[in-house]
Amino acid sequence: MRNLVIAIDGPSGAGKGTVARTLAERLGYRHVDTGAMYRAVAWKAAHDGVPLDDNEAVAGVATRAHLDQHGGRVTIDGHDVTRAIRTPEIDKAAAAVAKLPRVRTVLVDRQRALGAGGAVVMEGRDIGTVVFPDADVKIYLDASAEERARRRAADQAHTGGQQASVAHVQNDLVARDTTDSTRAVAPLALAPDAVYVDTTAMPIEAVVNRALMLVHEKLASERQG
Ligand code: C5P
Repeated sequence: MRNLVIAIDGPSGAGKGTVARTLAERLGYRHVDTGAMYRAVAWKAAHDGVPLDDNEAVAGVATRAHLDQHGGRVTIDGHDVTRAIRTPEIDKAAAAVAKLPRVRTVLVDRQRALGAGGAVVMEGRDIGTVVFPDADVKIYLDASAEERARRRAADQAHTGGQQASVAHVQNDLVARDTTDSTRAVAPLALAPDAVYVDTTAMPIEAVVNRALMLVHEKLASERQG
């Protein structure tokens, strides 16, 4: 069985994380969360007092950083930032550094290296459009802003255990969607050959099954040749 590259894109709260992680587990593939890479670089830049709008300086942080993601943990230069990168402050900081062209060049190179051998499920905003335009399977997950905010507010890992009002979360989320989809470099966009899945009314298991079906269809079409 050929080792596929599976790209999962979409806005925050559309279900990318759970779907990508579960899909990777079921297929025995590696899961790469590219949002966590932008988040970790933003965290490290802030930690080191690097201005978040300084293209060259933040790109320097991204180039030098030792980044690792395994077993659901995210580390940068030996700091376990798994929880620290899931805060409203880092939501904003990550979207800010993700606008910087040099930072994207560095992280996209790293993402391509991580996926070079295939057997990877990579999630983000530009995986099917920029990082792997030739990905074997491309899925774009979406959901209404209300539903995405509801999921985010209920996500303990993201709220740090604090109660956040859905309306407040929705405001931040819509602001970040706007930043992500209007930036000059690699904006969030639906690849023409991606399968669009609206997850608003779908239980997560149904979304995973849909994704698995697309993977099996791809493998079957290759066998037929
Ligand atoms: O997916 P997540 O919400 O963790 O991503 C954090 C931020 O990183 C996004 O708001 C976006 O600005 C940026 N990002 C990106 N390209 C990716 C993944 C994330 O620009 N492939």
